[in-house]
Amino acid sequence: APALSVRELRKTYDNKVQALKGVSLDVAPGDFFALLGPNGAGKSTLIGIVSSLVNLSEGSVSIFGVDLQRHRDAAMRLIGLVPQELNFNMFEKPVDILVNYAGFYGVPREEALKRAEVELKRAHLWEKATVMSRTLSGGMKRRLMIARAMMTQPRLLILDEPTAGVDIEIRRGMWKTLKEINAAGTTIILTTHYLEEAESLCRNLAIIDRGRIVEQGPMKALLAKL
Ligand code: ADP
Ligand code: ADP
Repeated sequence: APALSVRELRKTYDNKVQALKGVSLDVAPGDFFALLGPNGAGKSTLIGIVSSLVNLSEGSVSIFGVDLQRHRDAAMRLIGLVPQELNFNMFEKPVDILVNYAGFYGVPREEALKRAEVELKRAHLWEKATVMSRTLSGGMKRRLMIARAMMTQPRLLILDEPTAGVDIEIRRGMWKTLKEINAAGTTIILTTHYLEEAESLCRNLAIIDRGRIVEQGPMKALLAKL
């Protein structure tokens, strides 16, 4: 089954804004996939529906073959989500943030410690495992968000504009971590409005504009057309 399959998705908000007007897309297992589009195109709405934060109006979503509406909890267990805003406790240490997060999802402490080491190393944070998170640089804080989402070993990692508002050095550090995560087998979907970001990371992409997919395919084929 595809990592993500979306069929004829429509979303109309209470204020009658039609954010999605019949979106269909498939993301293959192992892919690094970008959803590219300008502000207001519907990217966050789509990501919100896939991660169960927003109710869909019409259509269907399945994650590795698990239907999101019929088996929400099972589908959600396959997903890791990296929110845009930093929402960890700045007065905790990175290692504790990761271990406590995993504990919340039922991962035993010893296993969580092992996973934390893997994730902190992959996020280039191992040397900072026991400092106060408040003292981390901007890039480190962002990579800590990625490391935390990986603690439940999701098969699909979803990021909504992960690099919005950060400079190119910080972006490159995040890209490196994301590439390693993808190379180790996790499917990644991110939304972005930077073509450059999609280009340097993603194999496949969809371009969304005003609630509709306007292009979809391999990055290389799309670049050739532009
Ligand atoms: P993007 O992430 O591509 O910037 P969004 O999904 O945030 O796009 O927004 C798509 C459209 O839906 C926009 O017109 C936006 O104003 C509208 N919208 C987003 N969230 C809400 C909401 N909670 N209530 C009403 N309208 C919304
Ligand atoms: P910031 O990311 O906020 O600029 P860091 O202290 O994290 O600050 O970056 C310091 C160094 O670590 C940089 O030279 C950067 O190239 C390197 N770095 C950042 N992210 C990674 C990563 N994921 N893997 C390896 N090295 C990294």
